Amino acid sequence: MCGIVGAVAEREVSEILLEGLRRLEYRGYDSAGLATLDDSGKLQRLRCLGKVAGLAKAWQASPLSGHTGIAHTRWATHGKPAERNAHPQVVGGLALVHNGIIENHDALKAELVAEGLRFESDTDTEVVAQLLHRQLEAGQELPAAMQAALGRVQGAYALAVIQEGQQGRLLAARLGSPLIVGLGLGENYVASDPQALRPVTDRFIYLDDGELAEVTTTEATLVGKRRASLANRCQTLAAAQDPADKGNYRHFMQKEIFEQPQAVARTLEGRLGKQGALPEAFGPGAAETFAQVRAVQLVACGSSHYASRVARYWFEEYLRMPCQVEIASEFRYRQAVALPDTLLVALSQSGETADTLAALRDAKQGGQYLASLGICNAPTSSLVRETDLALLLEAGPEICVASTKAFTCQLTALLLLAAALGRAQGMPAQLQDELAESLAALPELMEQTLALDAHIERLAEAFVEKRHALFLGRGSHYPIALEGALKLKEISYIHAEGYPAGELKHGPLALVDDDMPVVAVAPEDGLIEKLKSNLEEVKARGAKLFVFAGPGAAI
Ligand code: GLU
Repeated sequence: MCGIVGAVAEREVSEILLEGLRRLEYRGYDSAGLATLDDSGKLQRLRCLGKVAGLAKAWQASPLSGHTGIAHTRWATHGKPAERNAHPQVVGGLALVHNGIIENHDALKAELVAEGLRFESDTDTEVVAQLLHRQLEAGQELPAAMQAALGRVQGAYALAVIQEGQQGRLLAARLGSPLIVGLGLGENYVASDPQALRPVTDRFIYLDDGELAEVTTTEATLVGKRRASLANRCQTLAAAQDPADKGNYRHFMQKEIFEQPQAVARTLEGRLGKQGALPEAFGPGAAETFAQVRAVQLVACGSSHYASRVARYWFEEYLRMPCQVEIASEFRYRQAVALPDTLLVALSQSGETADTLAALRDAKQGGQYLASLGICNAPTSSLVRETDLALLLEAGPEICVASTKAFTCQLTALLLLAAALGRAQGMPAQLQDELAESLAALPELMEQTLALDAHIERLAEAFVEKRHALFLGRGSHYPIALEGALKLKEISYIHAEGYPAGELKHGPLALVDDDMPVVAVAPEDGLIEKLKSNLEEVKARGAKLFVFAGPGAAI
């Protein structure tokens, strides 16, 4: 899911569009393009594979004039990165840019091909352009044609559309992918991220899911049963905060902890459709690859490794699929043997972790794996470039060395992967729905957890004078206990160990006394009763217990 910019103005728009694309480059992309309507209303388009700088160069050589235009950076999901697959997609006199995934594109395409329509790209996007064009050919006006076409489309999208002969008018729609309208003086805009429009405005309208807007130089109007001006929903956005600025937080780790709900929401944007997780969010051909996967090998270091260890429980429980997890610095020096049709998944926040990259390269060279998949926060990293498929975390820059929001975004991405693999493999619809609902609920649950901040701060005081701490968990919460212990070690230099609670009696219990705080992560599942008896053992030794549990745990 990548970048959209559009503008209608009294002045030339190409510079606004190109600058907008440059400001969206941080998201990573494989190709870029723009289309404008010239003064006679004629549609012109320029696209290229690679960087926005390349597009700007092509534009210098043959500038596109016009007061109405749309532009895009593409992160391919359907059809490989190629100029003919880049956006804007044009059908007849219609140009369209799209972020996201059209879930039912196969069925729609079959219908349109049967009617004799010819497709020029491999994208899911062209299906929407063709549908729209068909409505226009049938004599509908652009807004009505958009409503009719979108009524047929399932999935996640942000769209901006212009039509030949319709200078000064731009249509924009969203469902599950972000899109905003920007208001200027004598000009208005659309974009997938306000950052794209920072040089031209600080006034924005956030479109809601399912909304369709018509944008002209003078107004932005909601198209629907009743037309309504959007002006009263306009918000002024304070100057963007530099990611390297702590703002009102005491340190970057605190800031990044509080960024988690938005980071996780962004990680999910455009990746959940009506029927659950969208496999194509992992790249072109992902659905076909996922259908063949019989086992998963996860490779990572540090917190990414602990996130992988949580995911192992999910792959095995929800997919009944063998899953191995290994620390990259071990994996790379071992003669590992892969099960047939194993998907190799490499995780790294930066995408440049040396051991993880080396493990990936060796594994690829060994030729034992069905395909490789990278989960990463940096779009231009080696990990993203060198894996067959990739999912970007969208966590935003993580400045603190100790990972927080990237860790929770990795967990989100891994559950998304489990759901997408499940979908490609025919997982029961009810389980698919449950996973999609659990994912969608995450940002709100994180907000609720962050509201406990003051309480947690008071609890933390009990650790200040301590030299050791024990973290306990069972099941998928055991790796969470390991991550908790790692965080305490990294941040406070207090020695901490994570342990599976059931293993306590085979060793560490002997160390527990009133000087050893014990933190337990309590699942609300079949293991809770077992955990409770482990905690009794700890209490009997006089240790102070800190239990993190859901409201129903009754501990
Ligand atoms: N699914 C579309 C494509 O593959 C849009 C990808 C994007 O969000 O950039 O062209």
